[in-house]
Amino acid sequence: MRTVTILGATGSVGTSTLDLIEREPERFRVRALTANCDVGRLAAAAIRTRAELAVVADERCLGDLRDALAGTNTQVASGAQAICDAAALGADWTMGAIVGCAGLGPTMAAIEAGGTVVLANKEPLVSAGDLIMQAAARHGATLLPADSEHNAIYQCFDFARAERVRRIILTASGGPFRDASLDEMAAVTREQAVTHPNWSMGAKISVDSATMMNKGLELIEAARLFPVPHERIEIVVHRQSVIHSMVDYVDGSMLAQLGPSDMRVPIAHCLAWPDRMATPMAPLDLVKLGRLDFEAPDPVRFRSLALARAALEEGGARPAILNAANEVAVAAFLADRIGFLEIAAIVEDTLSCYAPEAPETLDAVIAIDAEARRIAGERVEDCVA
Ligand code: NDP
Repeated sequence: MRTVTILGATGSVGTSTLDLIEREPERFRVRALTANCDVGRLAAAAIRTRAELAVVADERCLGDLRDALAGTNTQVASGAQAICDAAALGADWTMGAIVGCAGLGPTMAAIEAGGTVVLANKEPLVSAGDLIMQAAARHGATLLPADSEHNAIYQCFDFARAERVRRIILTASGGPFRDASLDEMAAVTREQAVTHPNWSMGAKISVDSATMMNKGLELIEAARLFPVPHERIEIVVHRQSVIHSMVDYVDGSMLAQLGPSDMRVPIAHCLAWPDRMATPMAPLDLVKLGRLDFEAPDPVRFRSLALARAALEEGGARPAILNAANEVAVAAFLADRIGFLEIAAIVEDTLSCYAPEAPETLDAVIAIDAEARRIAGERVEDCVA
């Protein structure tokens, strides 16, 4: 029996994680489930799994959560610190599935408690990757990547012979606008942007996929997680999303992980690791699939890719600024305040006018994140005006 905590239990990744653990109740016992404010979903999941603790980040939702869980044995709490406290309970296995840099503190708290910490929440790795990797080493925590690409690489990567890896190839679906012209992209709506051709995901990552900033964030994430120089991490558009990424070795062998476009596959890998567990997905039908296509990404229409690569190369505070500005711009796009192409423009503008020293502590990262958000927020207002 393993104890499990899910940070971001009401979201897309959190729900997929719950689906898997609820299929095998004899193997998993839930310690804590957290959300921002979706009390209905959180309370229902806490009741189904008999969770010890349910936490909402938004303190205004505590009363509703308390009412919804009255008469159960589930404790309730609220606030950002309570989310970190839940993460610090020291479950054997913690899923980090909060969206955005809001997950940074909870991720660190889970790592400091040791155990296995599964990272779907990529933004903290982008903004504070070195600090997260150092903390994991210091506290003996095992980090497993749930992001499908990084999970694929993890399954193919020979950590004992990292110097024999020639390239990592991150695959990208290309998102809903992979065939759209710049003029068409200028006019896309929120609904079009969140409708991903292959994956069902939360709104923020869906927009990131549409701008391909998601692949840029994943490039930085891969450079944090795998001991390979960043210039040897390549991005290839593979529209079927069947190969989730590849590792190319010096002898010419290329190892790939294939699977359905369903997050339950990489999550199950992390849940059972180093063993395997069954998932409800049908096996891939390669004959029906017929073909696998590959093409180079277009750096002109997908400006975010170049911005992310430059931020990775420059290092220091650049990835944290990139991420914070992107979170602000995506939120503004989702609120119908700015156009689709203005997302990358705001990120670029924020990067161009803010150049702090490289952060060496978590507090420094948080301060840079806050200032980048402030600047990006001003750019949003400029666009709206
Ligand atoms: P969702 O938007 O579906 O879910 C986000 C979760 O985080 C919800 O539980 C939400 O609670 C919670 N949350 C939001 N804001 C806060 C906050 N300030 N404090 C605490 N909790 C908060 O996101 P996804 O599941 O799509 O993505 C989660 C992470 O995983 C992202 O970093 C994403 O990039 C990554 N990822 C997602 C994949 C996917 O297939 N969806 C694939 C690979 C990576 P509430 O519901 O109450 O708002």
